[in-house]
Amino acid sequence: MPNPTITLVQGDITEQAVDAVVNAANSSLLGGGGVDGAIHRKGGPDILAECRELRAAHYGGGLPTGQAVSTTAGRLPAHWVIHTVGPVWAKSEDRSALLASCYRESLRQARELGARTVAFPAISTGVYGWPLDDGARIAVATVREEGEGFDELRFVLFDKHSHDAFAARLPLP
Ligand code: ADP
Repeated sequence: MPNPTITLVQGDITEQAVDAVVNAANSSLLGGGGVDGAIHRKGGPDILAECRELRAAHYGGGLPTGQAVSTTAGRLPAHWVIHTVGPVWAKSEDRSALLASCYRESLRQARELGARTVAFPAISTGVYGWPLDDGARIAVATVREEGEGFDELRFVLFDKHSHDAFAARLPLP
């Protein structure tokens, strides 16, 4: 299968017209700040209603870190939202495998949905404190390894600083 095109844009994840957007959620699945807040605010109440159902049916204790689930995307231009819980960065412990798992499990969900194009934010690099350069390294490496068969995998970075960190990992061909 051909490798996907990996693209970068500086912008807002809620505005991406792709099949699936990934949400940097928290384990409650009930909303939060950053990407999560923006997705629920712009996507409307249907997304939260589905999250509540998932929570009640399968994730009474919350969605574990590194895993991913999907819902429809409400009023967003995307068709689906894939919610994944990034690890909180810790100096005393290497949680890189969990961050890689977020990207891998999100791609697994996307495949199950039949999505061909997927947009990712820089998971864990906001409130969860992951150093941007390292977050970019893990994101790009994992998506390269695990992204076979998709048409486009897009990183959506909110500001120039994070865009540049990802661009440094993705030299133009
Ligand atoms: P986490 O809790 O996983 O750290 P955050 O949502 O706090 O998640 O932040 C993850 C990254 O997404 C940060 O780099 C932040 O600047 C960026 N971000 C925040 N809002 C948006 C948005 N609407 N679109 C794209 N990226 C965003």
